[in-house]
Amino acid sequence: EPPVDGTDIHQLDDDTVARIAAGEVVERPASAVKELVENSLDAAASSIDVTVEAGGTDLIRVADDGDGMTDADLRAAVRQHTTSKIGGLEDLESGVRTLGFRGEALHTIGAVSRLRIRSRPRDGDDSGTELVYDGGDVVSVDPAGCPEGTIVEVEDLFYNTPARRKFLKTTATEFAHVNRVVTRYALANPDVAVSLTHDGREVFSTTGQGDLQAAVMAVYGREVASSMIAVDADGGDLPPGPLEAVSGLVSHPETNRSTREYLATYVNGRAVTSDAIREGIMGAYGTQLGGDRYPFVVCFLEVPGDAVDVNVHPRKREVRFDDDDAVRRQVDAAVESALLEHGLLRSRAPRG
Ligand code: ADP
Ligand code: MG
Repeated sequence: EPPVDGTDIHQLDDDTVARIAAGEVVERPASAVKELVENSLDAAASSIDVTVEAGGTDLIRVADDGDGMTDADLRAAVRQHTTSKIGGLEDLESGVRTLGFRGEALHTIGAVSRLRIRSRPRDGDDSGTELVYDGGDVVSVDPAGCPEGTIVEVEDLFYNTPARRKFLKTTATEFAHVNRVVTRYALANPDVAVSLTHDGREVFSTTGQGDLQAAVMAVYGREVASSMIAVDADGGDLPPGPLEAVSGLVSHPETNRSTREYLATYVNGRAVTSDAIREGIMGAYGTQLGGDRYPFVVCFLEVPGDAVDVNVHPRKREVRFDDDDAVRRQVDAAVESALLEHGLLRSRAPRG
C-alpha cells in the first residue's frame, strides 16, 4: 500500500510489526520453551531434552526425536501463520488435539532471537538440514548431518527488543517458570522421556516408560511420589456434567505445600488452570488441609472436543467451561472418592 498524503498515520514496517507481535506470544524464556516443547510433542517425539542457560535468556535448546522436517518444511515452518496441524476454522470448531495450531511460534521466536534449527525427517534418506534465522530473517539453509528429529536453539532471546529484555526477572525466577512448563508437560506425557538441564546441571529426567507415578518421582522426588493415590472416574462414577473422565494422582492430605504451584491440571492433555477445577479439588480435601495449603495433584480431565474452546490467547492457560458448577462437582466427586477409598477423609458435612 502506498503512503497516504496529508496524514501522520503510516504503516509500520514488517520487522516492527513482527517484534511487537512477538511480545504477545513470547513474554519470557518459559513461553518460548512451552512453544518448542509443544512442537516436539506434536511431532510425536518419544524423547525431549530441554537445555537452558541463564534461565533461558542466553540459550534454549530443545532436542527431540520426533517426525522431523525436510528442507522445504523448515523454510515454510519459520514463515508467519504456517502450520501443518489444521486446515482451517472447521478443525478448530471440532476440537484440535494438537497443542499447536496457530503457526506463529517459530516465526515469532525467530523475530526476537537468533534461531538455529537442525532437523531430519524420520525414516527417510534425507540426512538433515540446518536453518539459521536472525531477528526475523533467514540467514542460511544448508544440508547438515543430524540425528532424526529436530534440534531448535534459541540464543539471546529479546536481543533486538531491549525493553522486553529489561523486563525479565532474575535468572532464578525465569528458570522457575521454565521448570514449571517442562514439569507440566513431563507429567502429562509419562510415555515421553523428558529431561531438563539448567546451566549444565540436570534438574530432572523422566524415563518415558509410561508410568505416571514414576514421572512424579522423577520430578518431585520419592516422598511426594509415595504419597500419591490414584484418581480414576468416568461415566457412571461422575455426577452429570461436561467431563467424561477424571484421572491421575493426588497426594495424601499430609503431603501439601503453601502454594498452588503443584496443582497440575489438564484438559484434553493441555495444561490449564481453572477456578472450577481447583475448587473441586480443594472441596474434596475439605478440612483435611490447613488454610492456604495445597496438595500435589496431577489430574487429567477429558471433555468432548467441541465442549472446550482452545482458541484462547496463547499465553493464557485459564479455561472456562459453560457449566463451571458441574465441573466443580465432578472433580470434587472424583477426588473425594479416591481419598475416601484410601480412608483419607474424616466424615464431612454434606455439601450444599
Ligand atoms: P504450530 O505449532 O502452531 O503449527 P509453529 O510455528 O510452532 O506452529 O510450527 C510450525 C510448523 O513447523 C508446525 O506446524 C510443524 O509442521 C513444524 N514443526 C515445528 N517444530 C517441529 C518439531 N519439533 N518437529 C517437527 N516439526 C516441527
Ligand atoms: Mg507450535
